[in-house]
Amino acid sequence: MNISITNSLGRLHEINRVRLLNSITPLEAMPNLAQHIGAGNLYVKRDDYCGLAFGGNKVRQLEFYFGEAQADNTDTILITGAVQSNFTRLTAAFAVRLGMACHMQLEHRVANTNNDYETSGNVLIDRMLGAIIHTYPEGEDEKGADRQLGIIADELKANGKTPYIIPLAPGHPPLGALGYVVAAKEMLTQFEQDNIRVDEIVVASGSGATHAGLLCGLRALGSNIKVRGICVRRDAKLQHPRLLDRCRDIEKLLEIKTVVEEQDIVLDDSFLAPGYGMASDEVMDAILQAARSEALMLDPTYTGKSMAGFIKAAKSHKGSGAMVFLHTGGTPGIFAYRSRIMEVL
Ligand SMILES: *Cc1c(COP(=O)(O)O)cnc(C)c1O
Repeated sequence: MNISITNSLGRLHEINRVRLLNSITPLEAMPNLAQHIGAGNLYVKRDDYCGLAFGGNKVRQLEFYFGEAQADNTDTILITGAVQSNFTRLTAAFAVRLGMACHMQLEHRVANTNNDYETSGNVLIDRMLGAIIHTYPEGEDEKGADRQLGIIADELKANGKTPYIIPLAPGHPPLGALGYVVAAKEMLTQFEQDNIRVDEIVVASGSGATHAGLLCGLRALGSNIKVRGICVRRDAKLQHPRLLDRCRDIEKLLEIKTVVEEQDIVLDDSFLAPGYGMASDEVMDAILQAARSEALMLDPTYTGKSMAGFIKAAKSHKGSGAMVFLHTGGTPGIFAYRSRIMEVL
């Protein structure tokens, strides 16, 4: 069994990885939420419990970026993201553990923010972790943000450092997505051990690394479980080709045959509005339902939206199998969005 699993994931085990997540994350039942919304068997995969500095899906992704960085003898890591990025926060945390410096560039991606957004939540943690913070005025210019990181890296090199850039724009091997190829295997093993037949997994779809990695991992391992991505960054029309490209990149990286078909890519963008980093009343309602039925802590940018999509999908689910919500973390965002949350309390 294990041998065939290893083989079907191609080169996965040859790719550099730093193991910072030392155990598997819990899979928990959500009986109260199921009863509350009148749905069947619901579960949550707790990737918000990923060991380090408030956890989240970026821990699995960073294991592969830092694997490559360490193989390159890097001493300084560079990353760009939104002001309340969970990715930059966890990069700073990994850098601390591995004895590297971290330069992060925070992009102005969300309009009409307030003092909590600019100084609390992830930013507060970034600063506690000692990250060196740069800013970038544009939030929708992935290539420009990467280019600016390149300029910072060149300055570091001129000062004798060995920098490593975690890129934002597509066009680089999606190393981070491999973390969710690993997670696909972990989840299939967990479903089997717990004797749970799963029909569908619901996940936030942002850069698409998590969504594409999970989908490729499941299909490569012979599983037909449906993966529903809830759009948190761009609409389904833009996200669909992006996802397909990511899947092809992952198959290439692993050197496996094409395992994801176009119809495997399922997206729902009905909770994206009013845009990235902003939450509708429906999303806020999903956050409160999760808090008050299962004591799950969700944020307005990512997991609140994916939970709204999960509740909608669970209510109309026809099959007899279980549905699984992938909790991708983002917990510090709660404090950055204090005033938005207060509006619904
Ligand atoms: C980054 C992030 C996502 C989106 O993951 P992608 O791999 O970029 O699609 C979802 N949830 C949280 C909490 C995140 O930080």
